[in-house]
Amino acid sequence: MRKPFIAGNWKMFKTVAEARDFAEEFKKIYVKNDVRVAICVPYTQIAAMAEAFFDTGVEIGAQNMHFEDEGAYTGEISAKMLKELGVKYCIIGHSERRNYFGETDETVNKKLHKAFAEGINPIMCVGESLSERDCGKAFDVVKRQLVTGLAGLTEEQAAKLVVAYEPIWAIGTGRTASAEQADEMCGFIRDVIEEIFGDAAACAVVIQYGGSVKPENAGEIMNMPEIDGALVGGASLKPQDFIKIVNF
Ligand code: PGA
Repeated sequence: MRKPFIAGNWKMFKTVAEARDFAEEFKKIYVKNDVRVAICVPYTQIAAMAEAFFDTGVEIGAQNMHFEDEGAYTGEISAKMLKELGVKYCIIGHSERRNYFGETDETVNKKLHKAFAEGINPIMCVGESLSERDCGKAFDVVKRQLVTGLAGLTEEQAAKLVVAYEPIWAIGTGRTASAEQADEMCGFIRDVIEEIFGDAAACAVVIQYGGSVKPENAGEIMNMPEIDGALVGGASLKPQDFIKIVNF
């Protein structure tokens, strides 16, 4: 049985002081249960959040990493550096990184290999734009992202993977994919994983939906058979909202 997995993505929000306030408030209302919970914070908040959430059941994630161990890459952060701070998850290939920072399926692939090599669990993002959906290419785009992004991984690694399906047109727009649309694509993603890695990996892979998940729609989304979790942007910034999603 796949355990539900709710992850927050804070993007470029909150100072360390604001993050500490969030942690205080969240811990007062959070009761550990059968749902995996992670919060992917900006680099500068990682140390403080790893300390604040130590032993609470809430894991800390990062939002990006470089694929090399070290080197002359000004402004970049390696997987080892994240690991040292207690990072358990790293979002890889978020559409904002693909759109604004030149992330490609090939760099996503290199980063996935490095994350697994360093023992960081990747949350790999895939998803189509509105024009790709409108011209009927959504499934082709997601398949290409998976085939290139996952190239060379082993079946064991694929089984540990988290894939977040985030249609770009639903991110931060308030326009959520319908639960059926999201479920259909998450089922398709599982089929592609099965084609590449086989049945066991397809059964184990955790597939999240992301894009305007809110307390009001989390229950419906989480009830869909192919959806195992959610990657939550805006609504993960407020403890009261995020806890409602965690407790969907
Ligand atoms: P949103 O962001 O929930 O604010 O739409 C989701 C994401 O980008 O991961």
